[in-house]
Amino acid sequence: MTVNKKGEETGAISFVQFIERLLRESATGVFKQEEVEAAILDEPSLGGEFGPSDLRMKKVGRSGKMPKWKSNLDWCKALLRRQFNQGDNEVKWLVRRKGKTKYFVHLTRASEEWRTWVAVTKTKPSFMKKCKSCKARNALSMSRCHKCGKAFPTVTRKLHKTTSPDDM
Ligand SMILES: [Zn+2]
Repeated sequence: MTVNKKGEETGAISFVQFIERLLRESATGVFKQEEVEAAILDEPSLGGEFGPSDLRMKKVGRSGKMPKWKSNLDWCKALLRRQFNQGDNEVKWLVRRKGKTKYFVHLTRASEEWRTWVAVTKTKPSFMKKCKSCKARNALSMSRCHKCGKAFPTVTRKLHKTTSPDDM
């Protein structure tokens, strides 16, 4: 066991792999965020080796603070979601919020009901559009696909209409 020195921190990929194993080897394949955090802290090679840079309190949002390792964990979650949305089959788990609780769900271990529920956000609008010819995801602002160069149809102008009773 080697505790991280100042300036060293446990990388996000370690969390991704640890959580994958944690969920896969569990009875349900589903953990709450608090349970995942406790397991990370309990793990000798993760929490057991956290040093000052992992534990440093970092500002989040306007008034919140969290230790650096937790913000690394948040970063993992966002990264996996993005990879999953891009069709990456290597993604093994995803997180989804239900009310105030965040659930970590393993994409093969968890019950079908859980897996479907967590994957549904795939269809959530995320300011991206998909190219019809090559399926690549593009930013909404693109006029041509960044991958195959196909022009996107011109975006229609949205008109604001008001109807008055006289028109009826
Ligand atoms: Zn394309």
